[in-house]
Amino acid sequence: MQYISTRGAAPVLEFEATMLTGLARDGGLYLPEHVPPMTQAEIAGLAGQSYEEQAFAIMRPFIGQTFSDAEFRGLIDTAYAGFGHPARAPVKQLAPNHFLLELFHGPTLAFKDFAMQLIGQLFEASLQRSGNRVTIVGATSGDTGSAAIEAFRGLENVDVFILYPHGRVSDVQRRQMTTPSEGNVHALAIDGDFDTCQALVKDMFNDFDFRDSVHLAGVNSINWARVLAQVVYFFSAAVSLGAPHRPVSFTVPTGNFGDIFAGYIARQMGLAIESLVVATNHNDILHRALGSGGYVTDGVKPSISPSMDIQVSSNFERALFDAYGRDGGAVAQLMGELKAGGGFRISQGALEYLRDCFGSGRASEEETSATITRIARTTGEVLCPHSAVGVHVAEAHLCATPMITLATAHPAKFPDAVEDATGQRPALPARMADLFDRPERMTRLPNDLRAVQALIRERRAA
Ligand SMILES: *Cc1c(COP(=O)(O)O)cnc(C)c1O
Repeated sequence: MQYISTRGAAPVLEFEATMLTGLARDGGLYLPEHVPPMTQAEIAGLAGQSYEEQAFAIMRPFIGQTFSDAEFRGLIDTAYAGFGHPARAPVKQLAPNHFLLELFHGPTLAFKDFAMQLIGQLFEASLQRSGNRVTIVGATSGDTGSAAIEAFRGLENVDVFILYPHGRVSDVQRRQMTTPSEGNVHALAIDGDFDTCQALVKDMFNDFDFRDSVHLAGVNSINWARVLAQVVYFFSAAVSLGAPHRPVSFTVPTGNFGDIFAGYIARQMGLAIESLVVATNHNDILHRALGSGGYVTDGVKPSISPSMDIQVSSNFERALFDAYGRDGGAVAQLMGELKAGGGFRISQGALEYLRDCFGSGRASEEETSATITRIARTTGEVLCPHSAVGVHVAEAHLCATPMITLATAHPAKFPDAVEDATGQRPALPARMADLFDRPERMTRLPNDLRAVQALIRERRAA
């Protein structure tokens, strides 16, 4: 299995190198040259299997010769062993024909754990074999960083530096990043918003001297291995509701477009997904772009669903690549326009492709909060604000096909918004009840590439 860049000018790589690299050297994102299909019989065969068995069957064709079957099975088992639910990704019913896919039973209570716990295992196995050491640098709006630090803390061959926007993550998110005491993990509080952090990380990857001298590796949602790990739960949920004999739809609370893109890959593999609905908060560039064809940034407005406070949605580039008939030159040009002028116009043909693939909707702050209140009152289910954005948008798309909304985080990760909506402060699961007693450790830095690079050079183990 070979991987190619969305900008068409980077080396073609195997799975292992794709995973270790993250961002392609031409600034693009890696995608499989061909998506391997699953037959309807193979999909039917997933029914009744454990999440880990399903994960193996779904991901195996993508990893080529990187790991033996036995090794890959072992890594998957270890990755999900720390989850607080035997189903890993249980499906609950919310209303007639509306279901909730609970993705928050991992160690940091957000769906990012599904990919990050697996990536931690895959990186360690690969680096132990080669004897290499890498420096992982990532930007986070809160959940990626905590999931990455949790997945890589204490691993032998990896240093991890996570850039998060100072003052713009929840206390639980921050503490999950700043309380691990292992010397190989570093939380950096940057003066700026998520897009500032993401731009710094991209600039570090595009500085090849720096990139090569510290052996930079990326685990942001641009990393193909993360998207791949997330494909699994689209299958597991659909199969539990009757796939392949019955199609389903999904609504996905969306920021960086990684999770919904995993659903798009599941559909390309042959899973019968009728609608894939992008749900945004008031940072609605994706909803606007699908409506008008204009992808135009207008600054990030803080919201009660901060993990979706994003304007430059990295993984959207992967969808654009397909929408433009896999023309890397065309994608490179659009991304150049975005960088230079803050936006671009999607061609009519590409826009029609994207509208065929994705529906969309947006929830205002008031609608999000009212959804948390109403769902708690009518069902007893307490939603996090991101999941509530999804439920609000999904309700406008309900039809005869079962709708599955992704619940992307545990309510206790965003207790203020949930308490405002329900009057009750959601409790952390018992296994992390002492989070607020542990000492914190972080470094505050300005939005200055040189300063961040200097700190990374100094702190990483030589
Ligand atoms: C990351 C995140 C999202 C957005 O996911 P993307 O893959 O970036 O679209 C939504 N909800 C929560 C809780 C998240 O952590």
